[in-house]
Amino acid sequence: MKSIQKISVVIPFHNEKENLLTLVDGLEKVVSRGSYDYEILLVDDGSYDGYESFLPQLTEKKTVTLIKLNRQMGKGKALSEGLERALGDAILFMDADLQDDPEDIPLFIEKLESGYDFVNGHRFTRKDNGIIKIYSTIARWFLRNYLNSPFTDINCGFKMFRKKILSDVVLYGNNFRFLPLAAFYEGYRVGEVNVHNKPRIYGKSKYGISKLFVGLIDMLSAYFLYKFAEKPLHFFGGIGAILFGIGGLALAWVTYERIVMGVLLYRRPALLYAIFLVILGIQIIMTGIIGELIVYLHKKNA
Ligand code: UDP
Ligand code: MG
Repeated sequence: MKSIQKISVVIPFHNEKENLLTLVDGLEKVVSRGSYDYEILLVDDGSYDGYESFLPQLTEKKTVTLIKLNRQMGKGKALSEGLERALGDAILFMDADLQDDPEDIPLFIEKLESGYDFVNGHRFTRKDNGIIKIYSTIARWFLRNYLNSPFTDINCGFKMFRKKILSDVVLYGNNFRFLPLAAFYEGYRVGEVNVHNKPRIYGKSKYGISKLFVGLIDMLSAYFLYKFAEKPLHFFGGIGAILFGIGGLALAWVTYERIVMGVLLYRRPALLYAIFLVILGIQIIMTGIIGELIVYLHKKNA
């Protein structure tokens, strides 16, 4: 018995005119082979490469819906706009740049049908250069050890999931990279499939090296949100207490030196550092307390 009836393929794109038609053709060839209903939602994230006149045949297809954002709002926003319009009970995300291979789609479907709720791609053929390789090894280690991530390639844009997970998992801002992890935390059954990843031939990568920096910030925000959103004082309290503790000890030491050994305080720059650390520690602890208050009031009034 099939547990999926209709598949919504959501594809965000920004200036990908050379890729779109090949992508849609390749996609339809694969998806129409199965016995599923499907729709293809192309989300135009502020493209200005004139693809409309280049590809008039694209939107004539009954299976294709074009959603246009007013300006470039980023891949995350494009994905969530696509999701809002999706009618299928299973959603497939893929990039528009032909780096993901539609021939891999049956693997996702099979895995979902075997009882999984979220299946993430793992680009096992990807060849990275030195810096990216080191970066992603460290990122993977952090995700494994500090976020209990069961995924090998969380950044992979090729993924498929049941729509029902969206009642517990929210897609907002840049967190699309951590969607699989959010599904995992909410107790859904998650898995991975190996997918091919080809080099980009037409168009330019939209991220370049800035992706590493943004990825780092996103990872920290995921760490904070998933671990401490309900108990902010555990996060801020820990940091604040350490700073306050170091400052307090230093303050006690200079006070002892002044009273017992008569060392004049203007000769002790440590005094300034100590005061700075104590105040900083208190501020950070207070931030945590305000965080707790917000969580408490939110729960109480919910
Ligand atoms: N993309 C988008 N808006 C953006 C950046 C990217 O819609 O602001 C789309 C892009 O057109 C492509 C996908 O997101 O379909 C992945 O982008 P890209 O291939 O540039 O990322 P990379 O593969 O280099 O990480
Ligand atoms: Mg790409």
